[in-house]
Order: sequence, then C-alpha cells, then structure tokens
Amino acid sequence: MTATGRRSGGPAKDARRTFMYKTLWLGLLFLFAGTLSAQPDVVVCPACKGEKTCAASNCDAGKVACPGKCLKASSKGWKKKKVDGHRDDELWMEYTWRSEQGTHTRAWSQGHIGEVIEILPSGEAINRGRCEPCGGSSFVACKPCSGTDKCTLCAGVGELIRGEQFWTLSDRQGRQLEGVIKSRTGNSLLFIRAVDLRELTVALDLLDETSRREVEKRFPE
Ligand SMILES: [Zn+2]
Ligand SMILES: [Zn+2]
Ligand SMILES: [Zn+2]
Repeated sequence: MTATGRRSGGPAKDARRTFMYKTLWLGLLFLFAGTLSAQPDVVVCPACKGEKTCAASNCDAGKVACPGKCLKASSKGWKKKKVDGHRDDELWMEYTWRSEQGTHTRAWSQGHIGEVIEILPSGEAINRGRCEPCGGSSFVACKPCSGTDKCTLCAGVGELIRGEQFWTLSDRQGRQLEGVIKSRTGNSLLFIRAVDLRELTVALDLLDETSRREVEKRFPE
C-alpha cells in the first residue's frame, strides 16, 4: 500500500480539478470584465484639453492685462534711450509735445509700469501715479478663474465623469448642449457650456424625456 493513491485520487479527480480551475478562471474573468464596464465614463475636459489650467484666451497664470490705462510691458512704443544714471538697455516710453516755448520731451522707464501717463489737452504728458484697478502691477486677476489659473469647467482636474459632471443634454427639439451641471434648483440647472464656458440656466422641463430622467436621477430634488 502506498500513500500516492490517496493524494492523486486517479484521473477522474484530476479532470474534476481541471474543470474547477477553469470555472474559477472564467468566474474571475467575468468579475474583471464587470469591474471594467462599471468604470465611470471619463472624458478629457474639452475646455482645457486635460491641461487643467484656465482656458480663457487672455489668462496668463491667472492674470490678465489691467483694463486701466497704465503703462504695460505689452504697450507699444518702448524704446532704448541714453539717460544718465540708467543702463543703456533700459526701455523707455517717450512723449513729445510742442508749446510756444518749443518742443518738450518726457520719458518714463519700465520701472514705471503700472503707472498712468495722462496727456493733457495741451499735449503735455504727466504721470498720474499708480493705476487704481491693478494697484500698479499692470495685471488684474482673471475673472473666470478668479486668479487661480484653474480650468473653470473641470475645476482643474483635467477630466470629467460623464453623467456625474459632464453631460450631453438634448432638448425637445433635438438640440444638444454639452457641458457641466453645477447644481439644480427646482426646475433650473446651473450649467456651464463647454464650447464657450458660459454659465447658463437650463430649464429642466425643456429637455427631452431621456435627458430629463437622467438628470433627475443624478440631481434629485
Ligand atoms: Zn478643464
Ligand atoms: Zn492698471
Ligand atoms: Zn483665468
């Protein structure tokens, strides 16, 4: 009598074991496929293309050029000028006007960026000092991103979950609207349209049956 007989159990048991393993693998495979299909449908943010930064065209790291009349690095007319006590490569904005006394010139260097130069009716250029809207920085915070430089559609995440944040809504005429639902109050949705990042109020009862039902499921009253 040997012990091997008890351990292998003969060909019938082997076949059973193989079948069991196959079933197990198949089961795992289904489980895995199930997890895959349950994954949320993630879309790359159409506004920032996944870059996460503010998509406003004039936004530079959360700042935009001051709307005031201050001197800016981007102003036209900066030029080099030889001035005692200043470096030769410094840039200047020069103003020239004429009076009975002759021709006058005043110039301000880039050290005066953010200050307002006003031209009086006589043609004389005077410095009014620090610009008010920008406090003398020549930049103000970008309105859409409030100076954060975060994409306003995806809040700086780079992607959006379809049916959670990102929606393609159809109205009863079959027109489509793509964007993000921020919130729901009664019959209205606060919606940010992806194409131009405009904030819209969308009436829920103007949507088609399917869209309305899905929104109501996600944003119950
Ligand atoms: Zn984005
Ligand atoms: Zn300014
Ligand atoms: Zn911005």
